[in-house]
Parts: sequence; C-alpha cells; structure tokens
Amino acid sequence: MRWEGGRQSGDIEDRRGLGPVGVGGVGVGGVVLALVGYFVFGISPSTTLHALNGAGAPAAQQQGVQGPVADKAGQFVDVVSTNVNDVWSQVFRQEGRSYRPPRSVVLYSQATGTGCGLGQSAMGPFYCPQDQRVYLDLSFWQELEGRFGAKGDAAKAYVIAHEMGHHVQNLLGATETAQQMGARGADSGSVRLELQADCYAGVWAAHASEVSGGQVALDPSDIEDGLRAAAAVGDDALQREATGRVAPDSFTHGTSAQRMRWFRAGAKSGDPAACDTFRAPSL
Ligand SMILES: [Zn+2]
Repeated sequence: MRWEGGRQSGDIEDRRGLGPVGVGGVGVGGVVLALVGYFVFGISPSTTLHALNGAGAPAAQQQGVQGPVADKAGQFVDVVSTNVNDVWSQVFRQEGRSYRPPRSVVLYSQATGTGCGLGQSAMGPFYCPQDQRVYLDLSFWQELEGRFGAKGDAAKAYVIAHEMGHHVQNLLGATETAQQMGARGADSGSVRLELQADCYAGVWAAHASEVSGGQVALDPSDIEDGLRAAAAVGDDALQREATGRVAPDSFTHGTSAQRMRWFRAGAKSGDPAACDTFRAPSL
C-alpha cells in the first residue's frame, strides 16, 4: 500500500502517554477486567467495545495535543483518515449531500475518557457516536500482526476505514435504525451495522487512489490484506481463538465469511448503495 506523501489534515488528537482523568487506579483494573473477560469468558474485546456505543456514561476526557503528529505511526493514521474523509466527501457530494468528518481521530495508550465511557486498549479500535470521534490505541496494530497474522498497512487502514464507516452510519441514521432492530442474535441490527461498516471500508478502498491523485493507493493484494484483517476480527475467529467454539447468539460483527462478503461488495462497486445490509434478506 502506498501512503507516504499523502495529504494530512492534522485532525488528530494525540493522547498517547496521558492517563484518563479522574479514575486513578480504576483505569488499570478495568483493563485487566476486560482482558479477563476476553481470555476467560471468551467475550471478544470488539463485542465489549461496541457495547460502548450509546451505553456508557461519558467519562472525563483529557485534552491531548491537537494537530499534525511527528511519528510515522501517527502520520499513517493521519494520511489514511484524511483519505477516508476525502472519499466520503466525494461520495456525499455526488449524492447532493454534504459530509461532516468525525471531530477527530484520537490516539491513546491503555485507557482514555470518551463520550461513551472509558475507552480501553483491550476493546480494540472504536467509534463513539456521542462525541463523533474515532479512538485508536496503536498497540492494536501489534495485536493484528502478532495475534492474527494480518500484516501490512492495508489491514491497518482497513480498520480505520471500518471505524470511520461507523461515523458515516451515524450521519446517515443507520446507527439509530440498528438500535431499533435490537442488539442480539446473528442477524440483529448490530450485526447489520457492523457488516455495513465493512462494506463502507470497501467503498473507501475503491476510491482511495482516485481522490488522492494516486498518493494513497492499494493494489489487489493490499485489498486481500484488508480482507484478512476482516476475517481476523470476525467474531467467529475471535471466539474460536478465545474459547475454541463459536456461539452465534453473541455475534455482534458477523462471521468472517459475512465480513469478507460485505467488504467485497463495497470494494467491487465503490457504491454505498451496495451496502444496504439492513434490507438484505440474507447476510
Ligand atoms: Zn465496528
């Protein structure tokens, strides 16, 4: 994947090295609890994290450094999130609407306050609809590589595009639709929401190069990296990894095969209209 030299908007808030406000030792205990939940009870961190959406009370937030970041990992996030915003600006414009980017992409370490409650590394990356921010702990990159073998920048970019897909859903009202449909079961509103975010990540991949004049570019093998990441964070893969079995009732993201299918639907068409998981008779 090509990205260096791509446009950076600097809509990054860097909270790395800052602790959450006002939680003292609770932050660390919470992280430990979440990990216990993951490894002992087989609750996927992603499940925990998406339960955050709308559920948690806002936690006190520490102000990070706003603006361009100096390190390569941070610059990567800046370039990719800027590119994702550029794609959605274009898509919205073509449909006669105007796109409003997330308020920022927050980089943090271990734990941080969010509009949806305390965000923690063990939850993986997430989007908080209440404060319209994407939260990333970059240690998740190592987890992607080490734990799941999903190597490559494209896989990381996929994760960013998926979370920003949740922002697009928030703008379009899909988040509310999903809540009305309910959160449990293998074809629940929350599974449909997750699969649509995968499809939106595909829409991004289809237009990344075109909106950046080729500065951000993915080739077909990059796309496969993205797909592998989709499979790695599919709930069935996480559950199998954690417990050795799969329990469809607790799915929130859909199976790896479903995630692959919807990512491809977006990537092949480049059209968000191909991402209507809410009306699809089968997922
Ligand atoms: Zn998601």
